[in-house]
Amino acid sequence: MFPSRFRYEAPHSLDEAIGLLHDGGDYVKVLAGGQSLVPMMKLRFASPEMLVDINNLPGLAYHRADPDGSLRIGALCRHADLEFSELLKATQPTMAAAAPLVADPLVRNRGTLVGSLCHADPQGDWASVLLALGGSVIAQGPGGRRVIPLADFVTGPFQNVLAYDEIAVEAVVPKALGTRAGGYLKLERRVGDFATVGTAVAIETSGGNVVRAGIALTGVGGSTIGAAEAAAALTGKPLTTDRIAEAAELAAGAAQPKTDHRGTAEYKRHLVRVFVSRLLGGALSTSTGATAERAA
Ligand SMILES: Cc1cc2nc3c(=O)[nH]c(=O)nc-3n(C[C@H](O)[C@H](O)[C@H](O)COP(=O)(O)OP(=O)(O)OC[C@H]3O[C@@H](n4cnc5c(N)ncnc54)[C@H](O)[C@@H]3O)c2cc1C
Repeated sequence: MFPSRFRYEAPHSLDEAIGLLHDGGDYVKVLAGGQSLVPMMKLRFASPEMLVDINNLPGLAYHRADPDGSLRIGALCRHADLEFSELLKATQPTMAAAAPLVADPLVRNRGTLVGSLCHADPQGDWASVLLALGGSVIAQGPGGRRVIPLADFVTGPFQNVLAYDEIAVEAVVPKALGTRAGGYLKLERRVGDFATVGTAVAIETSGGNVVRAGIALTGVGGSTIGAAEAAAALTGKPLTTDRIAEAAELAAGAAQPKTDHRGTAEYKRHLVRVFVSRLLGGALSTSTGATAERAA
């Protein structure tokens, strides 16, 4: 349970951090909250030659609404900052619902949303939430910044598209096109566990129609799954019980669950259907409320 030897650097500027990644050799890792990387190192699933600790970088601990209507979450914004955020409670029902369901309080005090996206665990909660919301990641490297839609960011289990010398500096949720509704439901074997199944639903309504919909699934495939067909079945029309049933069925069809110690594939697919149906049902009854629940 001890990591192998590594060099440790804790730069005080982003340029210095990127320089260290660029010059650092074959296997250098960014350290943010350390809540996934350190356990992986202790188990020797990861043995980087150098860690670049970004915790001393100034100005990355924010989450804020920008004048353009987007929400921006810096690379050092902790899960706990989001759990207790009044801004999220007022404007982001899907994120506000998910934040208290990520891990346990100890992990939430250190772990970061951006680190969770970078870690790309198929059971990571934030990737589903950001995917449902049409979010993106801003990466910075020696050549400048680029915007990567979340749908393109994760390439497989524990894999993302960042270059070896890029740092994810923030995540962005775009401006809503209408009134936001939705939530996140997660079944876990015990409080603080990873998801047996998690489901994120984000819809925006205007003039009686759904103008934007996103549905994404946690823990039921090799990576986070965007249920695009299910979302498309809702878009451009009023939300009705029939459409909710159709979307729930399509989302269940998009899941690729495997039978394991957490449950059978059939059970997990059933949960997706139930969760999507519940979340959309909640959105139908209120266009502004969030549904936050640990499913028992
Ligand atoms: C007991 C336990 C229970 C947990 N339960 C859950 C759960 O229920 N749901 C859930 O979603 N997660 C869970 N987690 C994981 C937790 O949410 C982590 O905090 C998160 O996955 C990673 O964030 P971090 O800041 O700790 O990243 P780190 O551990 O520091 O890094 C993770 C990976 O991302 C890379 N990385 C991090 N930040 C950046 C960046 N800015 N730019 C480029 N690369 C970066 C690192 O190099 C590393 O490869 C759990 C963890 C533990 C220990």
